[in-house]
Amino acid sequence: MSASSRLNNLDAFWMPFTANRQFKQNPRLLVGAEGMRYTTADGRTLLDAAAGLWCVNAGHARPRIVEAVAKQVAELDYAPAFQMGHPKVFELAARLAAMFPSPLDHVFFTNSGSESVDTALKIALAYHRAKGNAGKFRLIGRERGYHGVGFGGISVGGISNNRKTFGTMLTGVDHIRHTHDLARNAYSKGLPEHGAEFADDLEKVIALHDASTIAAVIVEPVAGSTGVLIPPKGYLERLRAICDKHDILLIFDEVITGFGRLGKPFAVDYFGVVPDLVTTAKGITNGTIPMGAVMASKTIYDTFMNGPENMIELFHGYTYSGHPVACAAALATLDTYEEEGLLEKSAETIAYWQDAVHSLKGLPHVIDLRNLGLIGAVELEPIAGAPTKRAFAAFLKAFETGLMIRTTGDIIALSPPLIITKAEIDELFGKLAAVLEAID
Ligand code: PMP
Repeated sequence: MSASSRLNNLDAFWMPFTANRQFKQNPRLLVGAEGMRYTTADGRTLLDAAAGLWCVNAGHARPRIVEAVAKQVAELDYAPAFQMGHPKVFELAARLAAMFPSPLDHVFFTNSGSESVDTALKIALAYHRAKGNAGKFRLIGRERGYHGVGFGGISVGGISNNRKTFGTMLTGVDHIRHTHDLARNAYSKGLPEHGAEFADDLEKVIALHDASTIAAVIVEPVAGSTGVLIPPKGYLERLRAICDKHDILLIFDEVITGFGRLGKPFAVDYFGVVPDLVTTAKGITNGTIPMGAVMASKTIYDTFMNGPENMIELFHGYTYSGHPVACAAALATLDTYEEEGLLEKSAETIAYWQDAVHSLKGLPHVIDLRNLGLIGAVELEPIAGAPTKRAFAAFLKAFETGLMIRTTGDIIALSPPLIITKAEIDELFGKLAAVLEAID
């Protein structure tokens, strides 16, 4: 095989979460991006209705972030994270801590959502041990939860395809039900009315295992990757109360809800519920450089700091924890969010988005529409015997007609960059309506 045919070959790259064989017969290649749009290899533009993968919240190729990254690589390309530091990592941690309500005052840096999840789970387990409660070892997740792809994350996660291929999971994990209840809540606008009592599943799990064995509960405030499952009114408050009653840590996985997705900086702000640990990633650097961060409460941090001095308090970390280039990208991203007011959306903008989402009612195949902040979901009637096929057909049709959407199962999830204008919202839903009309 010649060098050039080898280079043209798409075969070497084993693509993640992708039907490789199908893709390689009909590749979809992106070669550029700016603002709200991608450019494809065949020279077309796509309106980005997914913020990449829920991460490019300030839109693509923002000059301030691009420049900060370029400058940082030239100035200090890498610095070890263990027993050493650099000024920007401390600056970024302080800034993030200031964005969260008290007592979420401390930050542990990672490189992805998956790493943030595994870090938070490990901190929760180590915290109870540090307090002398080693018996608290169980972790509770939810059905249809997505917490990344580490073994911790897939264990507490509730997606069978992500679990059953890999054999043994973490032991000591249990799950409560998800809250998606189409029979009672179809076509909800904002938070669904019914289902706060799903939180009482946690009491059942506690009765089964005893609170003295349970370390933490992890939930996505709004589950994104499994199809935009929006919590019913009062649900998260109830989970918090049950955790408090039983000395169980509550972990919010804010990898997608963080950095403005709900029209507030974090789900913590939107719901007014303060967990003990928060996982973030994605929007922290506007998707430019891989980074994640775990927010930890003062109580948790202080517990570790009260141990013997001169000891390493937590045996955990990554070569790239607090990487200088990621820190520079994150600081420039936070500046951009702040200056442009992207993390707080007006009620008027949210209402405009909500009306646009619900304008699809009555179109072919649509069985539910739901929205929260700048998230929308279009649930389609699955083709009998071929689940996921209809939504994937919508994805392909959208790509062909200039719109990038994300689908999961038979649900289209919409999460555009937060810079989207009303005209672009109109364009998005005009294109999506045409897609729904066109597919079988
Ligand atoms: N948690 C949640 C809630 C997510 O949505 C995701 C990614 N979609 C992750 C964790 C994993 O993040 P990453 O792909 O960066 O590892």
